[in-house]
Amino acid sequence: MKKVYENLEFAMVGHMKSLLESKGIKCEIRNEGGVSVAGEVPFTQVYPELWVLSNGDVPTAKKFVAEYRETLGKAEVGPAWKCPSCGEEVEGQFGECWNCGAAAPEKT
Ligand SMILES: [Zn+2]
Repeated sequence: MKKVYENLEFAMVGHMKSLLESKGIKCEIRNEGGVSVAGEVPFTQVYPELWVLSNGDVPTAKKFVAEYRETLGKAEVGPAWKCPSCGEEVEGQFGECWNCGAAAPEKT
């Protein structure tokens, strides 16, 4: 088993699961309980993760995930940004640096 995707938004992970399953790739979601009901603050920040059951499907799954993320990047998620504080590369969906907690630079 291998993790191919994770996202703060559970709906996104669920969507990815449906996408992969429609391609005949068996997968499952872990950390479903990590995101609590709306309004509650989770104790720990655990992102739902999408795991592919068969290692043989991993390259294909990763390809679909990459394509999907690319689509998202154009639609609503900004490109990866470089932290102005520590220089770390941070993925576009995060509003602050995972390393030092600095806020993302203003999006233009
Ligand atoms: Zn930083």
